[in-house]
Amino acid sequence: MAASMYRLVYYSRNHIAHDQALFASNIQKILEKSRINNQRDEITGALLFNAGCFAQVLEGPLDKVEAAFERIQQDERHGDVSLLALDPISRRSFPNWAMGFIGTSDIQAKRFAGIGASTGFDPSRLSGDEIHALLRDLAIEEEAA
Ligand code: FAD
Repeated sequence: MAASMYRLVYYSRNHIAHDQALFASNIQKILEKSRINNQRDEITGALLFNAGCFAQVLEGPLDKVEAAFERIQQDERHGDVSLLALDPISRRSFPNWAMGFIGTSDIQAKRFAGIGASTGFDPSRLSGDEIHALLRDLAIEEEAA
């Protein structure tokens, strides 16, 4: 029987130096590693960066998603990792993305900044559903572009 599928959403604060080149190379390393691990673990999802914060959706088998989140929580490249949601799902929102990265275009950045500003960038006031819906919409837009 297939393992039941879950969606995890979290929010964290960037600890990578603000130097643009250093940040870009760190993100590239994180994405490379994530895509290898996530493909192995049947995890899909998206990572968003803006205004000094990360938000990420991970979806896949519960044990694999939990193990990935354990590793992610221990990573010193970010901190204040706050779990926003962990819920069973019947289907994936990011079936084609081992780990998509969002937040590079002006429109994407503005949309995320809007959510952050409405909560004072306080992770405890962000909703997992809100972050998931934003990332899913941005992923659909990106795939259509
Ligand atoms: P290895 O690659 O062998 O790493 C061993 C240890 O070294 C880990 O503890 C790792 O955290 C640390 N490490 C490696 N490189 C660096 C570095 N340049 N600076 C500081 N510490 C380092 N991983 C996933 O598998 N899936 C994801 O979706 C995912 N998303 C992430 C999102 C964010 C915002 C961040 C910051 C990290 C993410 N990671 C993700 C990476 C995750 O935190 C672990 O680094 C990774 O899963 C470890 O892979 P590994 O077990 O193969 O260990």
